[in-house]
Amino acid sequence: MARFIFITGGVVSSLGKGLASAALGALLQARGFSVRLRKLDPYLNVDPGTMSPYQHGECYVTDDGAETDLDLGHYERFTGVPSRRSDNVTTGRIYQTILTKERRGDYLGGTVQVIPHVTDAIKEFVLADTDDTDFVLVEIGGTVGDIESLPFLEAIRQLGNDLPMHHAVYVHLTLVPYIPSAGELKTKPTQHSVKELRSIGIQPNVILCRCDREVPEGERRKIALFCNVRPENVIQALDVGSIYEVPISYHAEKFDDRILDAFGLSAPPPDLSRWHEIHRRWTQPEGEVTIAIVGKYTGLKDAYKSLAEALYHGGIANNVKVNIEWLESETFEKADAIAHLEEVDAILVPGGFGYRGVEGKIAAANFARNHRVPYFGICFGMQIAVIEAARNLAALPHASSTEFGPTDEPVVGLMTEWVRGNQRETRSQDGDLGGTMRLGAYDASLKPHSRVAEIYGTTAISERHRHRYEVNINYVPKLEAQGLVFSGLSPDGQLPEIVEIPDHPWFIGVQFHPELKSKPFDPHPLFASFIKAALDQSRLV
Ligand code: GLN
Repeated sequence: MARFIFITGGVVSSLGKGLASAALGALLQARGFSVRLRKLDPYLNVDPGTMSPYQHGECYVTDDGAETDLDLGHYERFTGVPSRRSDNVTTGRIYQTILTKERRGDYLGGTVQVIPHVTDAIKEFVLADTDDTDFVLVEIGGTVGDIESLPFLEAIRQLGNDLPMHHAVYVHLTLVPYIPSAGELKTKPTQHSVKELRSIGIQPNVILCRCDREVPEGERRKIALFCNVRPENVIQALDVGSIYEVPISYHAEKFDDRILDAFGLSAPPPDLSRWHEIHRRWTQPEGEVTIAIVGKYTGLKDAYKSLAEALYHGGIANNVKVNIEWLESETFEKADAIAHLEEVDAILVPGGFGYRGVEGKIAAANFARNHRVPYFGICFGMQIAVIEAARNLAALPHASSTEFGPTDEPVVGLMTEWVRGNQRETRSQDGDLGGTMRLGAYDASLKPHSRVAEIYGTTAISERHRHRYEVNINYVPKLEAQGLVFSGLSPDGQLPEIVEIPDHPWFIGVQFHPELKSKPFDPHPLFASFIKAALDQSRLV
């Protein structure tokens, strides 16, 4: 039976609970165990798919088509274990399940209550489908003390007794702030947070303390004493230069040893060679490139979390440092702003929704095509590149997407029917917005000898999607006559998946999100190739 590690957070949010969970998962994996990571989100949305990136950051899509919390991206990037729909649940989904059952009459005669019905549903979710795994790491979103996380905390408390002895360990992540006027690190917020946790009935086994400097022995003893944990189980989590250093730094602090001790287990020391190699490449790059991301949510980096990481992975693959310039696309709607792009080595237009900023993105794609600057269009960025080429190469000045309103030239149009495997998926134009896009992994066939086939080293790929609109296959002949090549199509040949311009240093648009599958130890080939093209470009100027 799997062993469970429950990770809660205290004092403040944004301490990096997701990263802490992911790094611990990577460490246990490096010691020979299999792991799965799960996230419990206390908000009422059924999933984050309908939330603005400003509210929630990126929406991470799994192979099986779930729109999930961005922490699942960290989990995959650190462990390489593909996340599944069953790895993220929200209060909204739990209630949706219970209320559907209630309406069906499943509880006939009974009163439906938070305890036991909601807590049972949470426990069922935590335990489901875990038999083949050594460790399941379960991160509880939010901060201890929030009203909305109470049912989740109650559920994981109960699990401590439901599971066999030594099968549940609780980790609490807190902040130990340095107060300049006192010249000291303060443990009181941690004490209060653990007190709150203990009042719910959860005694943490390990306390992980985020801090910007060493926590002196005396302070650690104090935390141990007041929080009722063993002194060696107070682990400092010092700020580090790169997130990929976290597994190395946790191991140096014996975090993984203490977790295994808490379970009464022992294991050979971890093989951290992959993390040391990543760290070496990160700290000793042999060059640098600057990539412009022309998007809409550039004020909030979390909105493009996987994208930024995938670019850094491309840097790791080429042993160069990647600088990202986040540029608000609307600024390129003014004629003179475009000159700014002359200073970057490559341009990337990421995923996006809605009309605002579109003309600026089209201007950026036009600049990249005409000035022979490497261009990578992802999802919306591919649609933008195609609209630009239709307008300026194929003499279709009204080319547009039906996403922006009615148009005579729907070069990009709404899809209401497509094929997945052997099944036909259908959508209605006025159906629900939540969970109804083309979502998850779909196969694509690549044109032999095309640039993308060369980059991937194969002609059969599977990538994750999250979009409602598609490049209209009927326009393909007109565009190909102008030098574009649709080098990737859905297996039935109906949906353009990839466009490239062979007569350009590097111009590729993809309808999917390759960034979701990139890992630091296995950089996505498109990102590795794009950064290489940027490097070649930087040597030109
Ligand atoms: N808005 C576009 C669509 O829905 C692109 C979506 C995206 O970039 N993820 O098709």
